[in-house]
Amino acid sequence: MVKIKVVEGDITKVKVDAIINAANTTLMGGGGVDGAIHRAAGPALYAACERFGGCPTGEARITSGFNLPASYIIHTPGPVWRGGQHGEDQLLANSYRNSLELADQNGCRTVAFPSISTGVYSFPLDRAAKIAIRTIRKFSQTARQVDEVTMVCFDPTTARAYQAAL
Ligand code: ADP
Repeated sequence: MVKIKVVEGDITKVKVDAIINAANTTLMGGGGVDGAIHRAAGPALYAACERFGGCPTGEARITSGFNLPASYIIHTPGPVWRGGQHGEDQLLANSYRNSLELADQNGCRTVAFPSISTGVYSFPLDRAAKIAIRTIRKFSQTARQVDEVTMVCFDPTTARAYQAAL
């Protein structure tokens, strides 16, 4: 059984085995949570990400956590919201599922996600929260190592949406 929690906070401060980064397809850093993670992890993260040569939307790549309290960072570009008819729901579910599978394969027990795609990428919050919780629940049926997943929400509105979805 995977325990799912929703908290309000800053994901760069969370001490878990792996945090997820809502990256972009270049994996070379950006604004929002991506920028915060790169600042907190330090320049070695940039060098580690450079080696991947980017990542398609919905897939995931893993690096060390460098200066973060988390051991690993899993980078996944979520979809940009373009009205909902461009596979956005499936791509967002792919980001959660592929990140969880990568965490599991790397022996991670505790994992923390930010609210992928609901910032600059404009995915509707309530819809994203339902997809996130549904995908985590489904994954929990096949999880081997992961036993706790925390949604780390940066503001109260986001926390309420994930709490409601849960
Ligand atoms: P995206 O491009 O996937 O939409 P953003 O970084 O713009 O990613 O936003 C995703 C979510 O991450 C938003 O809810 C934003 O408020 C939140 N966020 C920003 N900084 C942090 C942080 N340090 N910890 C957790 N969440 C954060």
